[in-house]
Amino acid sequence: MKITVIGTGYVGLVSGVCFAELGNEVVCVDKIKAKIDSLNRGEVPIYEPGIEELIEKNTKEGRLSFSDNLTEPVENSEIIIIAVGTPPLPNGEADLQYVDQVARDIALAMNGYKIVMTKSTVPVGTNERIKGIISELTAHPFDVVSVPEFLREGSAIKDTLNPDRIIIGSDSPKAQEQITRLHQPLTDNIIITDIRSAEMIKYASNAFLATKISFINEIANICEKVGADVTKVAVGMGYDKRIGSSFLQAGIGYGGSCFPKDTGALIQIAGNVNYEFKLLKAVVDVNTDQRFNVIAKLKESLGDLKDRTIGIWGLAFKPNTDDIRDAPAIDIVEALVAAGARIRVYDPIAMPNFKRVVQHASIEWCDEPYEVATGCDAVCLLTEWDEFKNVDLIQAEALMKQPILIDGRNVFSKEQIEKTNFSYYSVGRPSMT
Ligand code: NAD
Repeated sequence: MKITVIGTGYVGLVSGVCFAELGNEVVCVDKIKAKIDSLNRGEVPIYEPGIEELIEKNTKEGRLSFSDNLTEPVENSEIIIIAVGTPPLPNGEADLQYVDQVARDIALAMNGYKIVMTKSTVPVGTNERIKGIISELTAHPFDVVSVPEFLREGSAIKDTLNPDRIIIGSDSPKAQEQITRLHQPLTDNIIITDIRSAEMIKYASNAFLATKISFINEIANICEKVGADVTKVAVGMGYDKRIGSSFLQAGIGYGGSCFPKDTGALIQIAGNVNYEFKLLKAVVDVNTDQRFNVIAKLKESLGDLKDRTIGIWGLAFKPNTDDIRDAPAIDIVEALVAAGARIRVYDPIAMPNFKRVVQHASIEWCDEPYEVATGCDAVCLLTEWDEFKNVDLIQAEALMKQPILIDGRNVFSKEQIEKTNFSYYSVGRPSMT
């Protein structure tokens, strides 16, 4: 099939590459010319394991190309995928300006029947809005289909090629048949719904996962006070098939470009129809508080943080990505700056993105974890990169002014810490001092 993907970010680029890998002819379009130029030079603007090889293979074999102009690709394709961003507005609602613009651009480029497939996460009713925008600008026939995206950054290629399920929200048998055929090589779990239900499935899924995370984080906070170990509690809960073990890892809370934005948007979607989503509001509040528990633990062990030197291992919101959108590390580093601390940071790949968002004279950018530890009063692990899991703690401790370790991701075991002199604080597990 001939496909145009509009928006060459984490979702658009990965989807485009994977559809090409399945044998389709794909053009990935982005309005940022520099992004397209770098892709045409073989440089990949995002970090995602496995993507470079697939881009190289599929461009060489002539199935994948890049363009900063959608007219010709849209003319030549029957399926147009919308994968632009839907960032939050100040009130939490999704900003649909990019989606609206793309709908207008598609309409003006149309030269015959097209299927417009929305992968961007959009509030219920948006695909109807897209339909309205396009039909005002063109007389050519088209169908709109909602196919929400569930990939996770860091394992996006694997997730796209082996999805748990594909949701196809459609009111057109013709479009539904074609989009089903496009996805059939990926999974048998293709669920056909109406368009509004498909849009809601995406928000409901992310809200539920966020709820699981905040739930286990609250259990962790209680565990700390009653002397239980949340990691054991989570294992015990997870064996119950009705609960499942995933998303029960206590830590410093969720971040990234999806959960914070989509929970906020769903609260707003509910609010727009006069429904107060109390549970989800609490999930968001718990998540915000959880980040600052790191600061509370530092203060508990060091007192005033003014002029203290604090090391940070990890800035990305999770390992295997360079994405720092809404990463807990942003709030934590900013709180440390505000408290007058000196901060030494290192992340294997997210530092350039982080520097664009947080800049302060009291931040020292380091090249590796031991350099961070040097001269520190405490080190906080914020992202569970393998590089940090493999740190030689005895070597790190020897470089520090005081051996205090705040493990925001419960990476280190009791046995590892017992071999050191660290005062060790993790999340929902007994402290070791
Ligand atoms: P992103 O910000 O990484 O990429 C969006 C791209 O769209 C940018 O490169 C931007 O330049 C481009 N763009 C914007 N307007 C354009 C236009 N008019 N023409 C051409 N290109 C344009 O966003 P993302 O993380 O890939 O997310 C895209 C959508 O998918 C969002 O709705 C997001 O919620 C959803 N989603 C994201 C993930 C994820 O893990 N990142 C997972 C599932 C769903």
